[in-house]
Amino acid sequence: MEHDSDRACFERVHRHSVHTLQKQDILILPELSTIEDSRARLHQAIPQHGIGIEATTDHLLQDIAPTLNASSLTARYYGFVIGGITPAARVADALVSTYDQNPMVHLPDQSIATNVEDKALRLLMDLLHFEKNEWSGVFSTGATASNVLGLACGREHIVNQRIKDRLGPDSHESVGSSGLLKACRVAGVEDIHIYATMAHSSLYKASSILGLGRSCVKDISKSKGNPAFDLRVLEEQLASDHDKSVSIVVVSCGEVNTGLFATYGDNDLRIIRKLCKKYSAWLHVDGAFGIFARVLEGLPGFERVAQGAQCLELADSVAGDGHKLLNVPYDCGFFFCRYPDLSQLVFQNPGAAYLNNNNATTAAVKSPLDIGIENSRRFRGLPVYATLIAYGHEGYQDMLKRQIIFARNVAAYIFDHPAFDLLPKDVFTSKSGINQDVFIIVLFRATNRALNEVLVQKINASNKMYVSGTVWEGGPATRIAVSNWQVDPNRDLEVVKSVLEGLLR
Ligand SMILES: *Cc1c(COP(=O)(O)O)cnc(C)c1O
Repeated sequence: MEHDSDRACFERVHRHSVHTLQKQDILILPELSTIEDSRARLHQAIPQHGIGIEATTDHLLQDIAPTLNASSLTARYYGFVIGGITPAARVADALVSTYDQNPMVHLPDQSIATNVEDKALRLLMDLLHFEKNEWSGVFSTGATASNVLGLACGREHIVNQRIKDRLGPDSHESVGSSGLLKACRVAGVEDIHIYATMAHSSLYKASSILGLGRSCVKDISKSKGNPAFDLRVLEEQLASDHDKSVSIVVVSCGEVNTGLFATYGDNDLRIIRKLCKKYSAWLHVDGAFGIFARVLEGLPGFERVAQGAQCLELADSVAGDGHKLLNVPYDCGFFFCRYPDLSQLVFQNPGAAYLNNNNATTAAVKSPLDIGIENSRRFRGLPVYATLIAYGHEGYQDMLKRQIIFARNVAAYIFDHPAFDLLPKDVFTSKSGINQDVFIIVLFRATNRALNEVLVQKINASNKMYVSGTVWEGGPATRIAVSNWQVDPNRDLEVVKSVLEGLLR
């Protein structure tokens, strides 16, 4: 660093961070008035003469830091599926900022960054029981980007397959080179369908980005509010106009409202795999958070949720999130694919001679810029590498077990309480089902309509815990999504109870 003042500011921020992480009584959300005051102090235009690093540091620490929320820092933030940061991941992330590597091109003589990311992906495959030799992987910004990667690879594969069927195996037409419109024309494909059950909103977004359109996603859930497939409808749909259309099937491994899974055990996924083979469909898994149920394989008490993520290795591609249950910092997702060459067909960064390493095709590690969305990006694999070696398989089992046990404690409390309904009602007909089906999400509502309308707002006004709302069966519902490694099942249950009892008084 050039100047003493630069270093002093860096140390001030570091001390502030250490202090913040030690706080026992951290506010989940900042006071609204603090946010409003600070908003008024944000700079409205670029200063002609910069204000300097010291004044900037003052501004950051006085006006900005106190107005950020503690969503990742506390175990009692249950909104969305926000995740936390393990200490090892945080330590590594500090180095990421210091060194500011750009792991876009594999340059093994210049930096070990791409090797580290490759190893991080392999360790992740170990954790999640994917055979390392059979899968290729790449880091993304999150599960949305990984769903884009999955649908893009699927689109490429199924349309190119049709082209080869029509024009012969030597045809060089492909979606990646000719574009979707021309490739489909050449292939005789008039429609592309995506079949899913209670798909995450990001799947519709991915379809739109890729020129497939949001309306091509068809929901084929067996019943409303349950992400199980209607396998009869799936086969009917795949078979109908099969000569003029191609399809992608997406498995919701962990549905975001309920935490339930689209498939359980090996039976459904084997059937789906067979159907995909028969009708040349691509099989993609959106496992943003649910894929981590694979960490529980073989643990007593968690059989049912482990079944929810069983047999995912039968898929062609898999999307997962690092910044949710892996508890690494934003922004980090991952994508596994069975066909490494296919990713390259779509995502190659062609013809930029100045970027290419000499042996791009033979290198043991593929340059991320040829198999993922971004060219330049952050060294986001380092925190993944660090957290996986720091805590290992058992460490991750322990973190996830605590989160699930807490969610089940809350679900059991809600189930027994006359003022609340645990949802979906037809799934939780008896209390014993809770200890099988509840993963990390508890969905519920107040039986009193008026209270239910304001339940999320009232819970959050306590600032002792934070929940997000959703719509269920046409009315408001409250979601507790547990995703932070710091959860303490008994301590945190007492907080939930006291907040909810407080609202009823
Ligand atoms: C969170 C989530 C996504 C989107 O992930 P981002 O990390 O927000 O991009 C996709 N699918 C599921 C099931 C999710 O829970």
